[in-house]
Amino acid sequence: MGSRCLTMKTDPPDTATFDVIVVGGGGSGLAAAIEARALGCAVLLLEKNAQLGGSTAWSIGSVTASCTPHQARQGIADSPAAHWRDMAGFNGDLDSRDNPDLRRVLADEMPDTFRWLLQHGVRFYGPMPEPPHSKPRMHNVLPNSRAFITHLEKAARRAGVTIVCGARASALVVEDGCLVAIDCATADGARRFRARGGAFTTPTRSRRHRSRRRRPATPGRDRGDWNVDVRTTAVRRARRLRRRTSPCSGVRDRPEQR
Ligand SMILES: Cc1cc2nc3c(=O)[nH]c(=O)nc-3n(C[C@H](O)[C@H](O)[C@H](O)COP(=O)(O)OP(=O)(O)OC[C@H]3O[C@@H](n4cnc5c(N)ncnc54)[C@H](O)[C@@H]3O)c2cc1C
Repeated sequence: MGSRCLTMKTDPPDTATFDVIVVGGGGSGLAAAIEARALGCAVLLLEKNAQLGGSTAWSIGSVTASCTPHQARQGIADSPAAHWRDMAGFNGDLDSRDNPDLRRVLADEMPDTFRWLLQHGVRFYGPMPEPPHSKPRMHNVLPNSRAFITHLEKAARRAGVTIVCGARASALVVEDGCLVAIDCATADGARRFRARGGAFTTPTRSRRHRSRRRRPATPGRDRGDWNVDVRTTAVRRARRLRRRTSPCSGVRDRPEQR
């Protein structure tokens, strides 16, 4: 699917200021942008490639979650606590390197995140068994992982998110401890996009795939390796933003500390 990204001709002018700038047009960035827009923020999403997608569009597209409508239809009684417990079964010799708190975030947030994806048009087949999970929890996106991007892009555009592809974020501009702009490299030269409320940087490395992937040029603070479902995290971060920037307009917030 080709994304209908804005051309430079219709790009926002350099003087435009957004409440929130999201860097990265994969599943995580699109989720963050949609949620920030739902809070009434003026949102700009920047993607370095010619089209949205990132590794979300390459993925297998399985989502492991408890308490889904799909489980309910099959009469499967499940809980985030059981999901969290079963995940430890994957650790083996690496158990000491696991982060149980982060695992808890994933397990607790998945039921809501799964419903959020359904609300935005994403459809799943399943749940399928996924040992050592004690219950069938693996939901496979239909028809393939590109569907995450197709549906979330549609939702973002419908909501009024401004999307600019071909814009690689190269620097975060911080003044007095506040993030005020993001510098980008584009085919037409350098551009600066201004932010009032902060920014999400969503390019990530997953623990599972890091050995096979080139390290992305992550702007801002490096968050280290983590394997929490990034869509979950994006929604949580957007909710946190709601608490910190309400109303959106005119608020200049400190960049998130992690
Ligand atoms: C082969 C494969 C199979 C996978 N299978 C599964 C699976 O079945 N289930 C599962 O849960 N996970 C799976 N994953 C992991 C999952 O795909 C990722 O964790 C998830 O898609 C990451 O989403 P994201 O939005 O953070 O990153 P991405 O989808 O990679 O999006 C990041 C975006 O940021 C853009 N970007 C990067 N740097 C900049 C910059 N400087 N300026 C502007 N834009 C920038 C990138 O071009 C990209 O579009 C798989 C991954 C791979 C590679």
